[in-house]
Amino acid sequence: MKIDWYGNNGYSFPKPGTVKKMICGVCGTPMKVKRNVLGPTGWAMAAAGRKCKHDSFACPHVKKDWHQRIHNLKIDVYLAEINKAVDYLKRKKSAEKEIKKILKKRAAR
Ligand SMILES: [Zn+2]
Repeated sequence: MKIDWYGNNGYSFPKPGTVKKMICGVCGTPMKVKRNVLGPTGWAMAAAGRKCKHDSFACPHVKKDWHQRIHNLKIDVYLAEINKAVDYLKRKKSAEKEIKKILKKRAAR
């Protein structure tokens, strides 16, 4: 499988009715959706006490350790890229290896 480095992190909050289906950017599982939810769509909105109508997509595995591990690996690679780290490609390669290993192990179960 191909790794979607810029995919969602297991959550997504599009405007109501704009997205039919969504696949988790971390593990490729079809996400569960709650339609027309009223609430904040991010920490900034929550902090400001603001709410809006949205559809709430979430991956069923989002709270699991292996899922968070993949998410963290992707953030590392992302930060290495924007900081133009000298070992960016090396980090990306090793993260890719570990992510594939985790997903393979999961698929085998
Ligand atoms: Zn997922």
